[in-house]
Parts: sequence; structure tokens; C-alpha cells
Amino acid sequence: MSKRKATEMEEDSCKIPKSSWQGGLLRSIKNPKMKIKEDDKVTVIKDLYPKAVHHYLVIPKEPIVNLLKLTKDHLHLLEHMDAVGMEITSQFPKEEFRLGYHAVPSMSQLHLHVISQDFNSPFLKTKKHWNSFTSKFFLESQGNTKNPLPSVFYVMLCQTPDLI
Ligand SMILES: [Zn+2]
Repeated sequence: MSKRKATEMEEDSCKIPKSSWQGGLLRSIKNPKMKIKEDDKVTVIKDLYPKAVHHYLVIPKEPIVNLLKLTKDHLHLLEHMDAVGMEITSQFPKEEFRLGYHAVPSMSQLHLHVISQDFNSPFLKTKKHWNSFTSKFFLESQGNTKNPLPSVFYVMLCQTPDLI
């Protein structure tokens, strides 16, 4: 490990466990090279381990652990996340994209995936990776998809988690 990397990790480790995904996420949010866009409600970063040529995460600034923590008060935020995601896809008019959330949230902060459908990436290594973006484990949100789930669906999830 380079000296610089070690220092970066130490800087963060006072606040967050350096091995956690959230740690990686927070470092990416702070890293200008990873950050695509930011407004008062969300930050958009490049996925740390992109599974396609274009793979971004729209992350709310409000701490929300996962889909199951959403309430109807988050409806506007979810719609905003979709709008921001769609805006990003419009920069690549020739690419096909899907926007969505993972049904089994493994991370410690809610994030909307914006992913191009080429799945051309050295990080796409396992069947699990593939399934997590192509099967029912990927819950498509509003967007240019055939069966988008409205934002209200995600809010309903917290009352009826067995929907997924
Ligand atoms: Zn995810």
C-alpha cells in the first residue's frame, strides 16, 4: 500500500470503520474524481467497482440505511433521485440504461444505481454480480424502462417487506 493511501485511510478511520462499504462510499463522495454531480439533496458518484461502462450511484445526503427505512416523507426525495439519474442518462443518448435499487440492500446508505446495459467491465466477475443487476433483485425505479416501479412502491416496502 502506498504511503498516500495509508494516510487517507487513517484520516477517515477516526470516524468510520475503514473496512466498511460506507467508508468507501464516504471517501468517494469526498473524492472530486469520483463525484459527478451534487445538489442540496443528493451526491452522484461513479460506482467504486463499476459493473458496466457507465455505472453511477445517486446517494441522498440524508442518512437512510436502506429501502426498508423509507417513509412517505421520502417520496419527493426518491422522485428527485430518479430525476437526477435520468438527467445523467440523457448525457449518453446512445446508451441504454436502467435505474434501480437492490432488493437485498447490503450497504449502509441508500443508493440508486444508474447503470448502462453493456455490462462491459472487469469488475463484473461473478454470477451474483450479474444477477444483482439483471434479475428481480434489481428493482427498477422510474426511468426509461418497460416496467418502472413508482417511487411510492419503495415507501410501501417498509410496511410490507415481503413484497420483495
Ligand atoms: Zn447497490
